Parts: sequence; C-alpha cells; structure tokens
Amino acid sequence: MTTEGHICFAISNIILIKKTKLIYFITSGDWWHIIFGSLITCLLPDIDHPKSFIGKRFKWLSVPIYKLFGHRGFTHSLLLVVIIIIYISIRKINIPMDVIYAMIIGYISHIVADILTPAGIPLFWPYNKKFSIPIIKKSNIKLERLISIIIVICAIQF
Ligand SMILES: [Zn+2]
Repeated sequence: MTTEGHICFAISNIILIKKTKLIYFITSGDWWHIIFGSLITCLLPDIDHPKSFIGKRFKWLSVPIYKLFGHRGFTHSLLLVVIIIIYISIRKINIPMDVIYAMIIGYISHIVADILTPAGIPLFWPYNKKFSIPIIKKSNIKLERLISIIIVICAIQF
C-alpha cells in the first residue's frame, strides 16, 4: 500500500473508532490529539524498508532493520505491537492517553492495510506464514486511492 493509502486508512480508522465509541480514550479524546497520534505511527512499520517514506528519513535505522529482518518482517507483526504496549505501560510515558491510544491504532491500521495487499504480512512473526486478504493490488494505485477516499468519506458520514 502507498504512503497516501496508509494515511487515509489511519485517519478513517481513528474517525470510525471515535464515532462508534469503541475505545473510551479515543471517544473522549481531542480530535487533534487522535488524528496526530494516528498519523505519527501509521507509517512506522515501514521503517523496515530503506526506500519507504519513513525509511528514507531514518536510513540509519531502516537499513539495519531491513538487513536483519527484511521488509514486512517483525515491524509488521502483532508481537511488536504487544512489546510497544507493554513498554508504554511500564514506562508511564508523559503523553496524553488519547494520543497513546491513537498511536497504537495508527500502527495497527498500517498492519491491517498491508494485510489487504497480495504480499500480506507475517502477523504472528517469528512464525513466517503471511496473512493476506488481497483486495488491493499493488499495480492498481487508482483503486487504492478510490478505496481510501471512500473509507474516509464513510468514516466522516458514519
Ligand atoms: Zn507496511
């Protein structure tokens, strides 16, 4: 999925979660906090690819991760999400809870979006089976853009 697609997907997810009142800290959260929180992490899993939007900006980190695990490795797994949640819980970071929850949702939205591509992701890494529901073909960026825009409009209209 493209950078644009991940951003649209993250924004639509956070809007839907706020409107459906699924998570207290998102429902009661400030709009700017939750949009910001989801945006800063929605591209983060692709830190494992030196040519990705975020990988180009943090090459000192993306190159070693890529060499160790490859693209769509452990940064695209539930294991890393669990590690991040445990780390945040233990460290008691001085960030508003709505931002923290939005950051977690932004990260997960990236993983879910990549499941929608034919390449899939190793959701239960280090178990390497890739999970995929190939709705979005890599070669069809126009379809991805259309789906992203429809999802954002649906989320706003919900
Ligand atoms: Zn990815």
